[in-house]
Amino acid sequence: MSLTTPYDPQNIFAQIIRGDAPCYKIYEDDNVLAFLDLFPQSFGHTLVIPKRSAACNILDVDTEALAKVMAVVQKLTRVIVDELQPDGVQVAQFNGAPAGQTVFHIHVHIVPRYSGEGLGIHAAGKADPAELEKLQARLQQRIAAQG
Ligand code: 5GP
Repeated sequence: MSLTTPYDPQNIFAQIIRGDAPCYKIYEDDNVLAFLDLFPQSFGHTLVIPKRSAACNILDVDTEALAKVMAVVQKLTRVIVDELQPDGVQVAQFNGAPAGQTVFHIHVHIVPRYSGEGLGIHAAGKADPAELEKLQARLQQRIAAQG
């Protein structure tokens, strides 16, 4: 996928937005959706996406939608740090296959980092559904408590 490949409405995140595919949702508002990565690189790996932008990457997303995504990224990074107490946190966003992008609906990764733990392989091992459910519940409760 090049940086200028047209948006494919059948991509997996578009299916999740439409409700055609499941996700472990942790946050949603009118413009933004956040859910757990199915192939997490660390415990708590979360993805944040715009709901109303048919945009592949940072080049074609409209600025207002991107700003709304980033506001939620900051909010959820705080929630994740408060709840999971990592030692660090990476916020990442990839554009085009050569840069590591594998799903072509723009998204931002929140990847908590724990001292002494390496980063899991990108988009590789599938998480245990029971673990994801527990994590989803913890983060949803923390969001509800923090308002
Ligand atoms: P990218 O490589 O495009 O920056 O990130 C795409 C991310 O989406 C990867 O971290 C990958 O693990 C994740 N992913 C791929 N397919 C699915 C899926 O069906 N559901 C969820 N929740 N995450 C997915």
